[in-house]
Amino acid sequence: MIETRGLEKVYRSGQNVVRAVRGVSLEVADGDFLAIIGPSGSGKSTLMNVLGCLDTASSGEYLLDGQNVTGLTRDGLARVRNRKIGFVFQNFNLLPHLSAVENVALPLMYMGVPLKERLERAEQALDRVGLYQRRGHLPAQMSGGQQQRVAIARALITDPPLLLADEPTGNLDSFSGGEILRYMLRLNERGSTVVLITHDDGVAKRCARRAEMRDGLLRPVK
Ligand code: ADP
Repeated sequence: MIETRGLEKVYRSGQNVVRAVRGVSLEVADGDFLAIIGPSGSGKSTLMNVLGCLDTASSGEYLLDGQNVTGLTRDGLARVRNRKIGFVFQNFNLLPHLSAVENVALPLMYMGVPLKERLERAEQALDRVGLYQRRGHLPAQMSGGQQQRVAIARALITDPPLLLADEPTGNLDSFSGGEILRYMLRLNERGSTVVLITHDDGVAKRCARRAEMRDGLLRPVK
């Protein structure tokens, strides 16, 4: 699913140069569940942004699901993102003025799916995360754990082969966090490839494979 060779990301501002990712070669097989741990500032989010086609690397090569995405334009990256990747973020990133079902349906709008089908599929996705009854609620009317379940339903609505999660349990109590992790493990059992960033060792230990980011370098953890 993921194959990178010597990925580097350098941020420059004036005289300042930050080498946030310093040569990451990573393989994630179809159906894998990889947790990336590491201290704050070690480059985890930068790597995730490149893997998620939200940003481009300064150098190195990246093949996603067999496609070389290294030199793609902004539009090209956006198309790959829409087709291949579901995202779950620490802050849920739901639109506050849209209901749960409208939030979940949003990615289908970008794919040109008609409204009626969008809403039907979004209701089914909400049902899968146990939130059918809350479909009309706004994000502010739901708990953090429920909002993250809405975000998971939104990430899955397009059936992406890859799920990327950046600290998905970071803003949740341990019960809700455990529940979110269980949903992601279940998705993985059904075939989704998952890459999850976490600073929580307890979460990482439940993932099939672990790697640690330190000073822009990634090493496997036994
Ligand atoms: P982590 O996710 O592990 O906390 P980050 O990837 O956010 O680490 O950051 C890695 C390094 O890159 C840090 O030194 C951070 O300050 C720097 N960095 C991150 N984003 C930017 C940016 N947009 N511009 C400049 N420096 C950045």
